[in-house]
Amino acid sequence: MPDLDRIVRDIADEMRGRTDRGEVASYIPELARVDPGAFGIVVIDRDGAVASGGDSEAPFSIQSISKVFTLTLALGMVGDRLWKRVGREPSGSPFNSVVQLEYERGVPRNPFINAGAIAVTDVILSGHQPREALGEIVRFMQFLAQDTSIAIDEAVAASEQRTGFRNAALASYMKSFGVIDNPVDYTLGVYFHHCAIAMSCRQLAMAGRYLAHSGRHPGTGLSVVPPERARRINAIMLTCGHYDGSGEFAYRVGLPGKSGVGGGILAIAPGRASIAVWSPGLDASGNSHLGRIALETLTKRMGWSIFGV
Ligand code: GLN
Repeated sequence: MPDLDRIVRDIADEMRGRTDRGEVASYIPELARVDPGAFGIVVIDRDGAVASGGDSEAPFSIQSISKVFTLTLALGMVGDRLWKRVGREPSGSPFNSVVQLEYERGVPRNPFINAGAIAVTDVILSGHQPREALGEIVRFMQFLAQDTSIAIDEAVAASEQRTGFRNAALASYMKSFGVIDNPVDYTLGVYFHHCAIAMSCRQLAMAGRYLAHSGRHPGTGLSVVPPERARRINAIMLTCGHYDGSGEFAYRVGLPGKSGVGGGILAIAPGRASIAVWSPGLDASGNSHLGRIALETLTKRMGWSIFGV
């Protein structure tokens, strides 16, 4: 059996010394202030044993990783009706692409590109005030991570609210096709705020455990989603979780994963482990550069790729 603790420590040591770190996201001004030298990793296995290295306890902006959890909530609310509003095919386009929406008459390709996640947020918002919907999302994260200290970073949310013109364009365009039910400002407000949730690698790996264990929350023994739904969310993470870098991520890492422009990645080794990595520098597709390299090393050394050793 490979020694997981040792491997995780080796990876953290190696990543600390690397100089190729990618570029920190700057289109959300508040994110540009993050230290590009940070690196954290946490792996939680089936029995709850935690292996960690680097800045594993430092909170960072989870950004698009929140879309895994909003998708889970929306499916819980409306079930398969969700797929009338949003597709589930890889986009092959950047996460904030406008052009694809026009070709597809306002129905986003999948729930992880920005347009798709905004449509999913709109489903969660329906019938609620924005504050209630956000409370629901944050409480879900707190429950999954078993940690009530998880909160929204208001400075990041305000920063994106001031500058998120492209997301405003996507939401308005979808509204013109009737894909968004609520006032565009409300839906966008909830979207920007759930992207601005701050979590550490440890909290994120804890929160992802239900996806590694057939929908069951190992901390409490409760069922979060049925096994079939966990399997399907993992499938969408594999095919769409890294936007136009999803093929490369599958090729190199071989696990379902979801990235965020804060530099985090949540990856799931089904039946084995929930993994969170964080390094703020991004590659050209907006995915964590060293985060991906760290996961590639981990899956290779552990033999965890879902495609075989
Ligand atoms: N809040 C970010 C945005 O909408 C999320 C993007 C991401 O993490 N890829 O641009």
